[in-house]
Amino acid sequence: MAPSDRPHRSGGAEPETTPGPPASGAVSDRAADLVAALAGLKAEAEQQIRSAADGDALQRLKTDYLGRKAGRVSAILKALPSLEAEARRTVGQAANDAKAAIEQLLASAEAEHAARAAPPAGDLTMPARPAWRGALHPVTLVATEICEIFHELGFTRAVGPEAETERNNFTALNFPPGHPALDMQPTFYLGTGALLRSHTSPVQIRVMEAYRPPIRVTIPGRCYRRDPFDASHAPVFTQVEGLCVDEGISFVDLKAAITFFARRFFAAGVNVRFRPSFFPFTEPSAEVDVECQLCHGSGCPACKGTGWMEILGCGMVDPAVFENVGVDPERYTGWAFGMGLDRAAMVRYGIPDIRLLFEADMRFHRQFVGSV
Ligand SMILES: [Zn+2]
Repeated sequence: MAPSDRPHRSGGAEPETTPGPPASGAVSDRAADLVAALAGLKAEAEQQIRSAADGDALQRLKTDYLGRKAGRVSAILKALPSLEAEARRTVGQAANDAKAAIEQLLASAEAEHAARAAPPAGDLTMPARPAWRGALHPVTLVATEICEIFHELGFTRAVGPEAETERNNFTALNFPPGHPALDMQPTFYLGTGALLRSHTSPVQIRVMEAYRPPIRVTIPGRCYRRDPFDASHAPVFTQVEGLCVDEGISFVDLKAAITFFARRFFAAGVNVRFRPSFFPFTEPSAEVDVECQLCHGSGCPACKGTGWMEILGCGMVDPAVFENVGVDPERYTGWAFGMGLDRAAMVRYGIPDIRLLFEADMRFHRQFVGSV
């Protein structure tokens, strides 16, 4: 029977149903009345509990029905001592049943009210936070830009592992063991014959051993050196390297390609100069400077008053390197360059401290949102 169908007991009206064992002839009329009263009480309690407005109302109903001294169930139980033993048992059982039923109704109603009263998980009236937009790291931006400029000259992109063999990183690139040039690139050794590459040049070796000329590749990647971590140095940095090998390649091709690149990357018509230098794997070798982009050649603190900024090292591939990878130096010539991308990004975006590139500070990186 649904609760709403239960007859509402007022005064001494008999309910239509009585829980528990039916009153038999052995049980007195008095006991039957009490059992019926308990059933009525339970039905009434159920109705009131269902319509209780809040937890306080439930608490009041609890006291009203189940209170030890003045509760309505207790009031009925007061009649027990005057009953026969069997009638006492019957009424006692009915009272316990009614009490348990009311307690259960109260408990589930309390849980319902508590759940309704709990604060919502969040403030639904708060305006939505704008969606986060990611940005490419400034070093990735310049790496992509540089590779794309060289792509226009027919260069594809190659990559290699950061953990390298000593042979690919040094020996095959014409750094003889014990040669003073090794001091220019102190790196982290991983055990016998293995190290963290100190430049991207070992990928030149890998490319020349995997493919025959003509070769035109740009090689971006991370490199490691035992440098301090200060405003202009980091023990991990990013380079991009270029390699061009073919028949009849001369220094003129190198100069033309690097000048084309500098004028695309920095500014159209920017002055570029080549200064003689030394690298074990190129001969002749040159450092390339571009006119300082801050003072346009008049001299400022950024260019230490020279009016020039050094951007990369380059040169004609040393014939000894070709011999090490099985390319005929009588037939082929080539040029290569290597450029620090962290510094290129600093120049391009006016970044004063290289550590900003590594600190993952969102205030810094958010400035690059929308740069591609
Ligand atoms: Zn300057």
